[in-house]
Amino acid sequence: MDKLSGWINKITKGNNNSDTATTPVAPKTEGKSKNTGDGASKFGGVPKGQKRPEGVKHTDTPKPKSSNNRNKKPNNRNKKPNNRNNKNSNNRGHQKPALDKNGKPEINVGRLKFERKNATIPSATVTRNSSAVYPATRNQRPRPMLGNIYRQESSVRFPMYEKLPEGSPMRIIPLGGLNEVGKNSMALEYEKDLLLIDIGLQFPEENMPGVDYVIPDLSYVLDKTEHLKGLLITHGHLDHIGAIHHYIEQLGFPTIYATGLTRALIEKRLEEHDLKDKVKIITINPDRDDVRFQLGKFTIDYFRVSHSIPDATAIFIKTDAGSMVHTGDFKFDFTPVDGMHCDYAKMSRLAAEGIDLTFCDSTNALRDGYCPSEKKIEQNIEKLFSECEGKRLIMATFASSIGRHQAIINAAVKHGRKIFLGGRSMNDNVKIAHDLNILQVPQSSIRKLSKAVEDYRPEEVLILTTGSQGEPFAALSRISRDEHPHVKITSDDIIAFSSSPIPGNERGLYTVIDAIYRKGAKIITKADIDIHASGHGFRGDITMMHTLLKSKYVVPIHGEYFMRMAHRSLAINDLGYEERNVIMLENGGIIEIRDGVARRAKEKLDQKLIFTDGKPHADIQEAQIHERIALSESGIITIVLELDKTTKQLKKSPKLYSEGFLENANVNGVIIDTVKITFAKLHQKFGAEKLSEKIITEEIAYEIKLEMLREIAREPVIQVIVTLN
Ligand SMILES: [Zn+2]
Ligand SMILES: [Zn+2]
Repeated sequence: MDKLSGWINKITKGNNNSDTATTPVAPKTEGKSKNTGDGASKFGGVPKGQKRPEGVKHTDTPKPKSSNNRNKKPNNRNKKPNNRNNKNSNNRGHQKPALDKNGKPEINVGRLKFERKNATIPSATVTRNSSAVYPATRNQRPRPMLGNIYRQESSVRFPMYEKLPEGSPMRIIPLGGLNEVGKNSMALEYEKDLLLIDIGLQFPEENMPGVDYVIPDLSYVLDKTEHLKGLLITHGHLDHIGAIHHYIEQLGFPTIYATGLTRALIEKRLEEHDLKDKVKIITINPDRDDVRFQLGKFTIDYFRVSHSIPDATAIFIKTDAGSMVHTGDFKFDFTPVDGMHCDYAKMSRLAAEGIDLTFCDSTNALRDGYCPSEKKIEQNIEKLFSECEGKRLIMATFASSIGRHQAIINAAVKHGRKIFLGGRSMNDNVKIAHDLNILQVPQSSIRKLSKAVEDYRPEEVLILTTGSQGEPFAALSRISRDEHPHVKITSDDIIAFSSSPIPGNERGLYTVIDAIYRKGAKIITKADIDIHASGHGFRGDITMMHTLLKSKYVVPIHGEYFMRMAHRSLAINDLGYEERNVIMLENGGIIEIRDGVARRAKEKLDQKLIFTDGKPHADIQEAQIHERIALSESGIITIVLELDKTTKQLKKSPKLYSEGFLENANVNGVIIDTVKITFAKLHQKFGAEKLSEKIITEEIAYEIKLEMLREIAREPVIQVIVTLN
């Protein structure tokens, strides 16, 4: 708690409206209402903001039965059909269809209004025959909000400059990476020219079944690809390069600019999707004096930064309207293992040239001091190897932490161990880094994890593997479950995690750790000996970045809202920035800069969540995610109706099938009753000739869904199949 209250202090300090900053804000519902709106207009419902057609009343949502009624359910159930039929027969006189201007009966395909004892059917919108988006009823189970934080907007009003000087401004638009650690992307626009920085991915949240990853919404750029001058990449982590293959073709194959290792990692992913030969990539060496180049109206420059992957850069961009730095992900490592220092001199030169805005990494804006150097970690890894003499050692780390791999490989070679690489991405990345001479590995010491591992004594082996986050199919997870063909954990093994869990991954990781402990092996983590350091600078590093760059404005990016707020208060309280010179915005928010004055534009791009199963052009819609959630929670009920093709009357009693749904005789009775009653009413309203399969499937699915909510407070997916013969 102490830590948390410390965080909150850091966030709220320096915020005039701190009382509102920590109160929950109303969820933004644009995306959702848009979905239901589309469905509404398509199927006859009423989109938000439009008037309901005359004669269709919006009435109260169905009320749940009182607890007394619930207790009496079996009796009520038996009486219900009769009650309904009585009601129905009383209403028959009112069912005359309205006439259109030609005097023909008007067919209303929208929701039918049936009289009920307690309630009237509310209007609703149907998205597909088998499922519907329903208005909330009192006993409806809460529907999870996908990308919850992403959808919310801050209610805090940040001070802002009122007006820009004359002339066209440069516009800078973060398209991802705000309120999340993932799917980083940013667009820049000056006059007509466009630039993109990074196109990353985000791994799905737990409530997104079947989604491989979430990608940024680049619609704004996709609408004007003819003006796109290039794609600049800061570094090779997946949250910066992971969705390039998804968009590169739609973007018209812009030229990509990236450092050597970043380029190789991008090419590997493009190759997997048969796109490598179609894309032009230019290698950037940030250390060269002549690295500066022009793309359209943009002048581009780079400087090297330290991070948990080598070859990471920050990017400087300048136009006639203003200039900015995108720091990428960075920390200041004064004793880097690979000897590649941050380019402090270049940073000073750019500061002297003048920087208007710094878009700066906020990931560790809550952590005091400086991020530890990889040198310290290297020393601790060496110590770990000394203490593990005589035992087999398995080390798990991120496949992309190539600097860390070097430290581990050095220690292994020194202690006479052969290195076996577990996991495809570990093997790929080590090979790429080795081919580029970034990783120094004696060939005789390293190989893929194979049967050969069994030929060595335990003290001669180091297994360097993926799975540090407990990913279920990573090599370490398979080893922990005894599913790996060549490695079985014994009580003599030591398993070391050179990593820390990314929030959200804890459950999977704990499962792996428990499985290892059950085999009697020893586990070593960061808590025992410091064998992991973050790649993102702490408050000290962030302070130093701003002190070196001396930009007029600070824009906290790359992080959850609370991280960015901590960054904001650091800039105001520690560095003395004026409040209006620290700009907070959301994905799709627009910063305009002209002649030294920057402000957040009034307009904002509407950003959607885009889910994908990993293949280009295979986006999963939000409605499908909700269906999957409904399936996983309540299962599916399929109702097969066999009808006479002329009379459209039921030939047999409806057949019910279900998967994952807890059936019982009572519920089945409710379903059969509902089908029969709805069917009778549909006949009454439309007559056999006008009663289409579409109307039958939609209306019956809708009615059953409502009954299930009333009866058992569950929302199974309902599928109605009609056969005519
Ligand atoms: Zn990174
Ligand atoms: Zn990142």
